[in-house]
Amino acid sequence: MRLPKIIVIVVILTLATLYYPRMPHPAAADIPTVEWARLSEKEISPQGRLALSLDEKAWRHAETRHFIYHFQNLEEGETIYINAEAYYKWIAELFGAEEYIWLKKSHLFVFTDEKTWNDFKTRGNLSTELTAFTTGWELFLYRKPYRLAPKKSLAHEIMHIIMFRFLNGPVPLFLEEGFAEFVSYRVLALETEGDEYRIRIVELIPEEKFMPLKELTETSTYPKGKVETFYRESELLVRFLILNYDSKKFYALLRDVSKGKSFEKALNDIYDIDFETFEKKFKDYAVLSRILH
Ligand SMILES: [Zn+2]
Repeated sequence: MRLPKIIVIVVILTLATLYYPRMPHPAAADIPTVEWARLSEKEISPQGRLALSLDEKAWRHAETRHFIYHFQNLEEGETIYINAEAYYKWIAELFGAEEYIWLKKSHLFVFTDEKTWNDFKTRGNLSTELTAFTTGWELFLYRKPYRLAPKKSLAHEIMHIIMFRFLNGPVPLFLEEGFAEFVSYRVLALETEGDEYRIRIVELIPEEKFMPLKELTETSTYPKGKVETFYRESELLVRFLILNYDSKKFYALLRDVSKGKSFEKALNDIYDIDFETFEKKFKDYAVLSRILH
């Protein structure tokens, strides 16, 4: 007898909650801002310099162990200041890589002034649609001030920059976005006592929309007309790999592909499973079963 899929997922999520490292709840406090001249690392990219040159007086700075923060609004700066290290710690624990040596600190630029953000995009030849992007060591994002801006998207963007720190090079898009999505849901869930269902329902994919694994894993651009499915399926794939196997295997997989190994080969080496068998298992997990009457 097959258990209904929804029950299976609830059980997996409940077990996962017990298994995962706990998310700390740092108390809100005023950020100790630091003058630019007193930051421990001032080496930033031309994009970073461009950002700080616009509306120069409005930028304030702060620093923690792994990050340097540049922000225009104290509340938004505080949100990021409080969360970035907590997310970092959580990922380090998930990967079993707490003692990873960081070469330098990451810079996070948080724009809250819309005009500055638009000027920055124009001067930097960036798409006008962008609300956030990362270049690896730096993260640039726009947040609307004085509004309850979604914490999930903040977590998602911070995950990109943290992930970069733990890897040797870029990973395929589905792993990059799938992991950022998965972890940002998880950290929010842990903040609400581990109940992911208070945030959302894990959404499965209708059979007709399912992207074959080969297509998903080889996509290097956000596929037109399928972006939502791409994110959802990528997240489900990462979720499946992390929740069904030892999460440290997932870190090993990410490290291998970031060194240039193909996903298929890394899957085979680390999970001891071939691509076709894996696709069958994953599809069974990710596709919404049709209800037969
Ligand atoms: Zn992303």
